[in-house]
Amino acid sequence: MKEKIVLTKLTDEELSEFLSDKDDRKFAKDQLLSWIYNKSAKDFDSMTNIKKDLREKLKQTAVITDIKIKTKQISKDGTIKYLLEYNDGNVAECVLMRFDNRGNLSACVSSQVGCPMGCKFCATGKRGFIRNLLPYEIVEQILAIQKDTGLKVTNVVFMGQGEPFYNFENVYKAIEIINSKLQIGIRRITVSTSGIIPKIKEIAEKELIPTLAISLHSAKSDIRKEIMPIESKYNLDELKKALKFYTDKTGKRITLEYILIGGLTDTKEMAVLLSQYMKDLKCNVNLIPYNPVCDTEYKKPNKKDIMLFKYILESSGKKVTIRLERGADIDAACGQLAGKEK
Ligand code: SAH
Ligand code: SF4
Repeated sequence: MKEKIVLTKLTDEELSEFLSDKDDRKFAKDQLLSWIYNKSAKDFDSMTNIKKDLREKLKQTAVITDIKIKTKQISKDGTIKYLLEYNDGNVAECVLMRFDNRGNLSACVSSQVGCPMGCKFCATGKRGFIRNLLPYEIVEQILAIQKDTGLKVTNVVFMGQGEPFYNFENVYKAIEIINSKLQIGIRRITVSTSGIIPKIKEIAEKELIPTLAISLHSAKSDIRKEIMPIESKYNLDELKKALKFYTDKTGKRITLEYILIGGLTDTKEMAVLLSQYMKDLKCNVNLIPYNPVCDTEYKKPNKKDIMLFKYILESSGKKVTIRLERGADIDAACGQLAGKEK
């Protein structure tokens, strides 16, 4: 039997080509696209306004996707973590976060299976790199959430597994699809990177420019080097130049993500260094209290130190937020995604 076509893998041209011997009205294609991406249809039978004989032909020759939800875990705080299984057996997580006060539904998506960056505090980094995800494998993370919950995702953050800028082409294509077909505004799409300088410059010159979040984590080079090997390749000084290039070129504000590790990155001295580093940058700061992952000696910060750190940064005139811990009871919080089933 001929293998079935996976519709979400197809470009627009390929989809037209596929439909040409079945129903060549442009209308049919638009209806199909709308069912797949806007209404997150689970199967062809639910596509009620598509002619029955076309639906039958589709059933015989195609599937909407070949990606399955392998497991689903729901946290006490409402966060849902899905483990998706790709057609080669690899798995990656995506997480749905609800922020009750804002009515926003944010999907945190993975860009790679595993990650090559080796950050010392991160469970994904410990797992190493397995492979890049394809555009449709990224987009399906959002579709799967929408299909499962019946809700519409409003924001997308590339903060799951992987370094998005080491899979630049596929991530950019996924952003194009998320923006055009899932109709999520580009301002509601955020890419978090550990600081891949050439790609920070490249994205600033693209047509679609997502919001940028930078995993800084320390403004002191030797400490950053210790916890993030990338500092040896792209150091803080060079990174700052690239960030300025991005903000000048785009007019957008960036977010600096800063992990607070007890006794290491959360001290007064470190807060002052961070204030100095970001003084002339158009940025906000998002403080992330360290989430424990196994086999690390790092400690959580205590409340008093978090508040003092925040106070010092605010005195320098920046907007500072503390990231709420989401889904820690199901290992869905920042840095805890490692493709584990239980
Ligand atoms: N790989 C990209 C995006 C995903 S990680 C990046 O690093 O930017 C999302 C955020 O969680 C990053 O800022 C990451 O550094 C941080 N993080 C990783 N491990 C963590 C941990 N154990 N506790 C808290 N934050 C962590
Ligand atoms: Fe990769 Fe981000 Fe984890 Fe670093 S923090 S290892 S870049 S996923």
